[in-house]
Amino acid sequence: MSRKTKQAKLDAIAKDIVEQNICPELAKDATQLVFGEGNPDAELVFIGEAPGKNEDLQGKPFVGAAGKFLNEMLEMIGLKREDVYITNIVKYRPPNNRDPLPDEKSQFMPFLEAQLDAIQPKITVTLGRHSLNCFLPDLSISQVHGQPKRMHIKLTRGVGNQGADGVQGNNEKRTNRTNGTESESRKQLTQQSAAKLGGVRQLAEQDELTLVILPLFHPAAALYNSNMKQTLIDDFSKIPTILKLI
Ligand code: URA
Repeated sequence: MSRKTKQAKLDAIAKDIVEQNICPELAKDATQLVFGEGNPDAELVFIGEAPGKNEDLQGKPFVGAAGKFLNEMLEMIGLKREDVYITNIVKYRPPNNRDPLPDEKSQFMPFLEAQLDAIQPKITVTLGRHSLNCFLPDLSISQVHGQPKRMHIKLTRGVGNQGADGVQGNNEKRTNRTNGTESESRKQLTQQSAAKLGGVRQLAEQDELTLVILPLFHPAAALYNSNMKQTLIDDFSKIPTILKLI
């Protein structure tokens, strides 16, 4: 798929979030959608939790202190921000930077998965426990940080399909982690957001997406904890080797 096609898919997904009024509870107090930015053809996608104040104002993810640290770590491995793609689970700022609620995360998951399906990254780097547990709910970040995990997901139809027929989109897809247990509440919430997207869910084998998840500590948490900061830098420096192995 060309870079242009991938960007067109991403644009359609962003449009869907707004047009389908996803997560109106957060949208009403947010300045704007913080969808994600970077190279649509990136080998590396970084996923944080939710936009903070600066991100909400600028409409871009990771532009505050945590973002500066992320940029420094990217430079350390010879990459610029424009080389990778950066986004969050939740795409509107939660009030007062509170943790996103399970329902808010679930509403955005089909769109995040569609973003990954468009980009087809080699490595999906989750930043922090919220991001990790949206993909692999049973794992603990303190135990698995720096260890790549391969997983398969089935995607939700109707996200970013640029029209009613789904020809260019993700077809009939339904979120379903195949290597772990999906919590009941998550399943229910995913069904609710799928219902908002309209229609009955069906499974289609070709709609499975394989991801390599690399769980890392969140740069904001590591900034003020020197042990965690060093661990994050050490884990981050493994990225070039992992990329070569995939
Ligand atoms: N923290 C996040 O998780 N995401 C951002 O975009 C900024 C800070």
